[in-house]
Amino acid sequence: MDITAIERNVRLYGLPVFLTLMGLAGMLLIGLSSPATTPIDHVLAPLKRAAFLGAAGFAVVGAIWWARNAWLKYRWIRGELDGGCHHCGGVMRQLKGRWGAYSKCLMCGNTRKGWH
Ligand SMILES: [Zn+2]
Repeated sequence: MDITAIERNVRLYGLPVFLTLMGLAGMLLIGLSSPATTPIDHVLAPLKRAAFLGAAGFAVVGAIWWARNAWLKYRWIRGELDGGCHHCGGVMRQLKGRWGAYSKCLMCGNTRKGWH
């Protein structure tokens, strides 16, 4: 694996993996906290359940996002993906910048004017 491949993997998986790990850490923290014993704990119980579900949601969204990017990369490696990037043929994300619409490649980070 060369430097650009590592960069690409960080760009592709960094956020989704971060999201998944945060969700799992949240679930773990809430799940491992002591059972309700005081009246305050009973008041907080529904909040804790909601927070747990929220953390689980984060983990699920992160995992789906990660899987989607892995699928994109798999197709890109096999050359089945016909993205808008001039540089590597990768999929581009449509963004709006200070100078109007532009696209940023998900694989190599190359940018192009307009949406592709
Ligand atoms: Zn590219």
